[in-house]
Amino acid sequence: MQRFVGFVYQEVRMHCRKGQPYSIEITLASHGGIRGRCSQCQQPAPSYDRLPERRWSFVPLWGIPTCFRYAPRRVQCPKHGVVVEHIPWSEGKRPVTCAMMGFLARWARRLSWRETAQVFQTSWESVYRSVEWFVQWGLAHRELQGVESIGVDEIHWGHGLRADNFLTVIYQIDAHCRRLLWVGKRRSQATLRRGLKALGPEVVKGLRFVCSDMWKPYLQVIAAQAGQALHVLDRFHITMHLNQAVDQVRRAESSRLRAKSKEAAQRLKHMRWPLLRRGSRVRGRARQRLDALLASKLATARAWELKETFFHLWGYKSVIWAGAFLDYWCFRAMRSRLEPMKKVARMLRAHEELLLNWFRAKGEISTGAVEGLNNKIRVVTRRSYGFRTYNAMEMALYHTLGRLPEPESAHKFC
Ligand SMILES: [Zn+2]
Repeated sequence: MQRFVGFVYQEVRMHCRKGQPYSIEITLASHGGIRGRCSQCQQPAPSYDRLPERRWSFVPLWGIPTCFRYAPRRVQCPKHGVVVEHIPWSEGKRPVTCAMMGFLARWARRLSWRETAQVFQTSWESVYRSVEWFVQWGLAHRELQGVESIGVDEIHWGHGLRADNFLTVIYQIDAHCRRLLWVGKRRSQATLRRGLKALGPEVVKGLRFVCSDMWKPYLQVIAAQAGQALHVLDRFHITMHLNQAVDQVRRAESSRLRAKSKEAAQRLKHMRWPLLRRGSRVRGRARQRLDALLASKLATARAWELKETFFHLWGYKSVIWAGAFLDYWCFRAMRSRLEPMKKVARMLRAHEELLLNWFRAKGEISTGAVEGLNNKIRVVTRRSYGFRTYNAMEMALYHTLGRLPEPESAHKFC
């Protein structure tokens, strides 16, 4: 059992019903010879009076719900007046001990919050509060030194496409540390400015690389605030734009064919995923169907071919050759008569310099990091986790992806 200086365990009582234990109560008392401490400044101060007994739930022992009982003193601090004493296992008015909050928060990383609440016979709310406490402690104690590369990304959340359905996230994507640094509502300039402000001017000044999508508000803020950093459009987002374009071509063609004859439309049926995957990774029967499709004169086949060709770009080492290839690709895309592909080409041309920065930064930033973190975020924000509020989800994101330092605890069970 953890020892608290100035306090003693007075009594442990187990309550049973029909021969089965259902709760354990641990009564604590203040040590006679040691003065209480002021909760504001933690300095010893003379006792003033005693408040009614309070209870705090503690880590379950042998699976039995356990609580602490203690009647706090009030002390007369010369500086702060009459205040409640400092209680080392408690934080503010919470009815849960710090040990229990740490315990629940650690389990909440492995189980869903609801499962955590069920297993340890507590409420969802108390799991949420525990995670929140844990995260806030972590955010207050984390180190932001040495952040050189960040990725800025937007994440869709919940249903609909309103401004509130998007989040802006900032990741650290240095090779030695990949983590979530910040999350905020919406994806406007104001959001990103708020995020950079939260990281502090020191961090922003020290940035060498910023990775992002071609989202205009982000581009503008990054140019204005982190002008010294090399701004890179990352491969993950460009691949996403290309895939979306191929899919648009497929859908449009599919409905065109269906209007003509059912048989012709068969070719495009169930082809969405084989078309979007990297060509070299499509195998088996999907491969046969893909080959058949590619042999046809369909627009989808041409779009797919353009998408696959684009992939060669990432193999270049020289910025000049990469630039030449990009010109060639855009030229072909513009002549393809496929409006979605032309749109991508125009977008890439408009941001050519930023795209080529990818080759200038090569080897310096871990290129899969944004994608990896983006995928992990999707797992957390998936609706099945059932976060009832934005704040709960924000806490969950920091909790699982923030690599935050943890408050020390004598009860690390997992
Ligand atoms: Zn004080």
